[in-house]
Amino acid sequence: MTGLSGRRRVSKPTASRHEMDLPKSVLVGDGVIKELGEFLKNLGCRGTVHIISGPHVMLMAREVVEEALRNEGFAFRWSNIGSVEIEPSKVTGGCASEQDGIILGLGGGRTVDIAKIVAFSSGHPFISIPTSASHDGISSPFASIKGSGKPYSIVTRSPLGIIADIDIISNAPFRLLASGCGDLIGKVTAIKDWELARDDIGEYFGKYSASLARLSADIVIKGAEDIGRRKKESYRDVVEALISAGVAAGIAGTSRPCSGSEHLFAHALDVIGANKGLHGEKVGLGTILMAELHGVGWENIVKALECIGSPTRAKDIGLSDEDTVKAFVHAGEIRPDRYTILNKVKVDESKARSIARMTNVI
Ligand SMILES: [Zn+2]
Repeated sequence: MTGLSGRRRVSKPTASRHEMDLPKSVLVGDGVIKELGEFLKNLGCRGTVHIISGPHVMLMAREVVEEALRNEGFAFRWSNIGSVEIEPSKVTGGCASEQDGIILGLGGGRTVDIAKIVAFSSGHPFISIPTSASHDGISSPFASIKGSGKPYSIVTRSPLGIIADIDIISNAPFRLLASGCGDLIGKVTAIKDWELARDDIGEYFGKYSASLARLSADIVIKGAEDIGRRKKESYRDVVEALISAGVAAGIAGTSRPCSGSEHLFAHALDVIGANKGLHGEKVGLGTILMAELHGVGWENIVKALECIGSPTRAKDIGLSDEDTVKAFVHAGEIRPDRYTILNKVKVDESKARSIARMTNVI
């Protein structure tokens, strides 16, 4: 143990006080994975480095990761979480051990989330090493895990450090990056929902964190064409925007700047068992629908998603019209403590169908 992290959750913000939970160091660039050992040393990490990863990533990155750790004298061990869903009971610390000094999550969104929860549950500091840019969990203090009984994210701690190697991330399938863009564009409606909660029920609202999350969405909306052309610089922009959005949640002490009614729609799809599409793809569709409810120009959202190559129609990800309508109707029930536009505008089946048709989502 290094004593750099603990099990204490980020405290809930109020109008009079709030806690910012931020990563200490973020390294972004081509080939930066080679600097892993030095990065950990500079952060003051000691003890065995426990790397949680999946079989594909282990095959791809094992050599370079082990060499980087050996060069700085770190002992290490690997946990392969495999391709099957991990049981939530195993995630609550079951695979950490006394010898572990630090836990690394090396892989896609699911791997990073699982490693983050293992680190939090066992009281170890956590380093996030995403191999794709598919959602903002790479830097936030929140994590979600399927089968945990909670369809939405749970509060943990922010990573102590993040290494985002653009060479690795740009080699991941483009669909993952496009999904990350959908997650970022969702900040448009997330911020509108947060403003609404401030105005209607007096909820704490962080101007700075809201602006930062909104900026992350704007970078993607403005750069949509370049992202769609798969320019390498765009990968870096998207990765930095995802990191900033996650940091915005860390500054706010709540997932509010990153997650509103568009996320409730995505979670509702999971709850009704419509297991189609990636997280950011579902969030992108939800953003189109919620933008119409908020009256903030769903057409611009569609235009940006289309330019990027992210889905704008339910059928693009194999979703049926009926499941889409059902998720839209029930989205407001997913998280009763989260006040959004769905508390203000009643969406029954007929309204859901008409908005989904009007916006061409179905
Ligand atoms: Zn998200």
